[in-house]
Amino acid sequence: MDLEKIIELDKKYYFNTFGDRTPVCFTYGKGMNLWDTDGRKYTDFLAGIAVSSLGHSHSNLVKAIQEQAEKVIHTSSLYYIEQQALLAKKIVDISCAERVFFANSGAEANEGAIKLARIFFKKQGLDHRYEIITLKKSFHGRTLTTTSATGQFKYQNKYVPLTPGFKHVAGNDIEELKAAVNENICAIMLESIQGEGGVNLADYEYMKAVRKLCDETGILLILDEVQTGMGRTGTMFGYEHFDIMPDIFTLAKGLAGGFPIGALCARGVAADAFQPGDHGSTFGGNPLACAAALAVIETIEKEGLVKNANNNGKYLIESLNQLKQRHSIIKEVRGMGLMIGIQLEEEKAVEVKNKCFEKGWLIGNIGGNTLRMLPPLIVSKDDIDGMTAVLDEVLGGLK
Ligand SMILES: *Cc1c(COP(=O)(O)O)cnc(C)c1O
Repeated sequence: MDLEKIIELDKKYYFNTFGDRTPVCFTYGKGMNLWDTDGRKYTDFLAGIAVSSLGHSHSNLVKAIQEQAEKVIHTSSLYYIEQQALLAKKIVDISCAERVFFANSGAEANEGAIKLARIFFKKQGLDHRYEIITLKKSFHGRTLTTTSATGQFKYQNKYVPLTPGFKHVAGNDIEELKAAVNENICAIMLESIQGEGGVNLADYEYMKAVRKLCDETGILLILDEVQTGMGRTGTMFGYEHFDIMPDIFTLAKGLAGGFPIGALCARGVAADAFQPGDHGSTFGGNPLACAAALAVIETIEKEGLVKNANNNGKYLIESLNQLKQRHSIIKEVRGMGLMIGIQLEEEKAVEVKNKCFEKGWLIGNIGGNTLRMLPPLIVSKDDIDGMTAVLDEVLGGLK
């Protein structure tokens, strides 16, 4: 089908939540590249927003999905599921978690985390202890409760009344966080690097202090690793940068390389709070989704992709900082591993993104002044040189 026809159908039949999208439809992908309906080739530095961690159509992932689909796609968590058990074990082996539960998205995994924190205290008879502190500029998802958790008014204002029990404080301000703590708080929930809020890094000392505060008060620490997990930041999980362990953390985006899945992971006391009947999911953790995630994790390990994200992430940030010396419009390059934000002095992020697109390079933007790059974990130095050369040209051509 040609692009015009696809756009016509979309405009007529699909909810208009995305407005005018970038006018392209990709029909084929391989590695770092995507091809559109006209056969035009693009290089992907966004990976479907940190999802396509192995790049497109990695043979290991394709094979795992094909083989599992031929055996059985879905059974139900009414029965035992081999791939679910194996994936849970795998995540426990590579993380601080002791138990895992599978959902279908990041928001849904976060819903599970919120329910888990609440029930943990409720089961001790502490019914008042249900409030959760999150950060301003955070993003935790689009369900009503995760929208309530999200510390950004623009996502919330049209949906009041929100789910009660969320308090938002400024990031990297331990005093403000301490001031918000009282006997009603059950959890503090943070991203180790805020993604949708602008690629904002947490300070090492701040995260250490948050962990200490939680230890002293019995508050559960929830880390939303939906975007930062699975090697994205140059470590398998974002919390490793801070030498801390969360009580609960969530995964989704890169976990199955594009197959929908979310994971709720917990350790210690939090790992045993859910009992039969307390939580559930129809699709969550079905054989196909879990086979896909297992293949992704095994490939990340076999191909050394966490190390690649770390090394080539550093190289990308260095290269962008060199561009910053030549282009005064770049105010700051922020990020860790392959999770990078480029803040501009002017509201030109959309224009720059679109010009890169015209040259066949996919990047993202956050608001009007921040560009974002989240390439697949397989990105090479050559890909990075290509990307920075294009960005150099685009920035040089701005008026
Ligand atoms: C993307 C994202 C979510 C939401 O994930 P969905 O799969 O879209 O529900 C939640 N938290 C963070 C940090 C994210 O980046």
